Amino acid sequence: MKIAVSACLLGYNCKYNGGNNYNQNIINLEERFEIVPICPECFGGLTTPRSPSEIVKINNEIKVISKEGNDVTLNFIEGAKIAYNIIEKENIKYAVLKSNSPSCGLGKIYDGTFSGKIVDGDGISAKLFKEQGIILFTENDDINI
Ligand code: SF4
Repeated sequence: MKIAVSACLLGYNCKYNGGNNYNQNIINLEERFEIVPICPECFGGLTTPRSPSEIVKINNEIKVISKEGNDVTLNFIEGAKIAYNIIEKENIKYAVLKSNSPSCGLGKIYDGTFSGKIVDGDGISAKLFKEQGIILFTENDDINI
């Protein structure tokens, strides 16, 4: 069975700072699943390294703003759509996503102040995948599929 996984958890250097979030437990999933790496921020045309971004609410609208103040919302939306197109094309039903990220975060995200504070909410891609019925986990969950 195929599952989608945030590429940074697999050791791809696609994180905003040019590094990764390598996680051996996630790598071990290769023994049970065919893994399809996704990085929505890269798919959305953002460079690596790039300025970190966080989700904020402006006039009741969800926006993604970089630390330098650039509005990168459209990159995040486009990247989410491209990632979902892959998930759909590959007939994937499950995804393991990097916690707290403004793209991949599930249930908890940074609060938009770049202070490391976490609030309830989903990243742009996690929200789209959830709406489309994909069953989601973070790297911190017991992936009991
Ligand atoms: Fe990792 Fe997702 Fe951020 Fe890409 S968009 S670096 S996969 S958390």
